[in-house]
Amino acid sequence: MKKLEIYGVNKVYKLENKQTFQALYDINVDFEEGELVSIIGESGSGKSTLMNLIGGLDSDFTGSIIADGENLKKLSEKELDKYRKNKVGFVFQSFNLISHLSILDNVTLALTLSNVSEKEKVAKATKILERVGLADQLKKKPNQLSGGQKQRVAIARALINDPEIIIADEPTGALDSTTAVQILEILKEIADSGKLVIMVTHSEKVASVSSRVVEISDGRIVGDRKNPKYKKNHAKNAFEEKEEKPQEAQESKPKKNYKDKQNLSIWQAIRLSMHNMLASKTKNILMSIGVAIGIGSLILMMCFSSGITDFISNTMNSYSNPRIVTISKRSNSIMGGFTEFLTLKEDEENYIVEEINKRLEEDNIDFRVSKGTETEKGNLSYGFNMFTAMLADPVVKYTDDPTDMNFDKGNILSSQIFLIYTTPPYYSQSTVADGKLSTTPELKENGTPLRDADEMPVGGGGFMFSRAIYDMFGEENPVGKKVKISFTIRGQELPEFRAVDEISGIVDTSVFSGILAVYIDYDYLKALFTEQGWQNMFAPTSLYIETPSESITNKINSYLAQIPVKYDGDGKELSPTPEGEEPKYSYRGSIEDQLGSMFTNMTSVIGTSLVVISCISLLVSAMMILVVLYMSVSERTKEIGVLKSIGARRKDIKRIFTSESFLVGLLSGFMGIIFNLILTLVVWLLLTNMIGLAPISYRWWYFAVAMAVAIVIAMLSGLYPASKAAKLDPVESLRRE
Ligand code: ADP
Ligand code: MG
Repeated sequence: MKKLEIYGVNKVYKLENKQTFQALYDINVDFEEGELVSIIGESGSGKSTLMNLIGGLDSDFTGSIIADGENLKKLSEKELDKYRKNKVGFVFQSFNLISHLSILDNVTLALTLSNVSEKEKVAKATKILERVGLADQLKKKPNQLSGGQKQRVAIARALINDPEIIIADEPTGALDSTTAVQILEILKEIADSGKLVIMVTHSEKVASVSSRVVEISDGRIVGDRKNPKYKKNHAKNAFEEKEEKPQEAQESKPKKNYKDKQNLSIWQAIRLSMHNMLASKTKNILMSIGVAIGIGSLILMMCFSSGITDFISNTMNSYSNPRIVTISKRSNSIMGGFTEFLTLKEDEENYIVEEINKRLEEDNIDFRVSKGTETEKGNLSYGFNMFTAMLADPVVKYTDDPTDMNFDKGNILSSQIFLIYTTPPYYSQSTVADGKLSTTPELKENGTPLRDADEMPVGGGGFMFSRAIYDMFGEENPVGKKVKISFTIRGQELPEFRAVDEISGIVDTSVFSGILAVYIDYDYLKALFTEQGWQNMFAPTSLYIETPSESITNKINSYLAQIPVKYDGDGKELSPTPEGEEPKYSYRGSIEDQLGSMFTNMTSVIGTSLVVISCISLLVSAMMILVVLYMSVSERTKEIGVLKSIGARRKDIKRIFTSESFLVGLLSGFMGIIFNLILTLVVWLLLTNMIGLAPISYRWWYFAVAMAVAIVIAMLSGLYPASKAAKLDPVESLRRE
């Protein structure tokens, strides 16, 4: 029966500069099953070229090749892949085993490409390795075997899918004569079992054991003779399976049907690339360390970014109660919002309350703001704040002697008082224990503001200062010291303002901690003003409303921006703002809220820049992965050629390389997380020791993001190398030394 027919085949290689080289001229020959054919000829005569055509590795020829009933010229790329996988087996001179895979994995590669189960693979491989005399070497790696053993493995690999045609290109060329004889015996046995074995050789001695010798010279067949001495050996042929598969059954059975449908599974691709990665551990670990540094820093930057945000919002939350609405009026000039405290006189106060209540009613919220008793929710309370930039010569003096009310002999501290602030309902007094400042005054549970007489100086006088007061007292505890504060208001002929009292507490929570701010109880301050005869200029600059819930706080806060301002800075009624013009004033939340949002914006800018910087380092990582994977493709050209010769599709090759980049990403992500934990610990220790503050907070999903980023970067960088690998020409890859 004809196994292989070749009619009028010409092969022309395209060279550079449109030149060509004809390697085969009008080849006409056919072969039958059971033949052991030697193709002989000098080096360069075209033997390998012919083998590549027969093996379906090269389909760029004219003429026709019909192998086992298939016209190779008419097969699509996919069908050619299947042809290589199932119909032909290749044996090479240099064995071409994949060094990082075990003998078992090398032999079963074609089955792996068909997604055959592990059990079946082992069973088949054992059987075939038994036939070539290597049954006990499954777990070894190729470099643990001798040359002859390697070639046996290569033969086993070629036989695993039970192909009809075996092509062996100088199978004994790299072996000593004794070993060569053993290999030839195996090939003969295979031929005797009914396969067609075509082997290329330039040794006459090797040729003499075959059943037929075809001689090629300069691309032409110049001789074709049968060997009359050749004897088929039917006795105890290990490759024959007659007793298992009767002839009829073998033909009627739908043959090897699994092979056509199944392809390399993703898991198998990952397993294959894992073996490869393990084979070049150092390279992969070094590369992953590089990427890990980028990933680790990215997480650190994200932690910094959220750490700073958390720090600020914690600070904000520690002194602003989520259930208090703070209302103030600001002019809309750029700095006006921060330097001015405009008074809200009674008419305006009533107007604001009305406007808020109107909107609460519209929104069906069962809550109203009222002016009434002090303890009920919804009541207004007042605050008076003033930046002393408008004041001349604000001076704080203090004395150790409480009876000395003159202060002339006392220390004079001429540091500027930056801010006078009435104690809002959510401030409390810090306590001083063991000479150390206590931590932040905390809000009471569920947000009830601290407004107990023992917690803040209500009505009874006394000042609280921001923490900056410590610098003035040389880190000595200032609480209890008598202090005199005096200002002269610039440009206005007002009598000297004097207040003498004790420091009753320290406010260490606000953003003003670092500047000297004085906190005075509203009623007390009002009394001081009245004492001076200034009651007319004293009106609240902020209104506080306590609400039953944070959501109502937010609601009212959102109303504030909608309420048109009807009074100017002096409390006189404004003419309505013309259409399309920016109103001159607006109602806003407290200055802390505004500073808070300013800081939050600032941090998000800082945070974003940090993340952008680490993204650049990730770009470097990506380039590194690309280079390494690209080099890996060059290194593994031969392996890719082998994979193609046993029927790997482009998709399979791509899948193997893509899995490799996935694994690189996974490893890098994992190492990046570990690197980050170490890095963060070091940075945290440094910062806490140096500045006593390490604004680093983790979010659980940062690790997930880092992992995803690592994998995505690695896979993106791997795209190009993978597609390059998939596109490699198998003939050229195999030719590569
Ligand atoms: P053999 O296997 O008999 O030693 P080959 O089939 O490898 O010879 O090569 C036959 C001829 O074709 C040689 O002259 C070789 O230089 C040429 N040849 C082989 N491959 C290519 C190729 N890819 N491009 C151009 N010429 C080639
Ligand atoms: Mg050759």
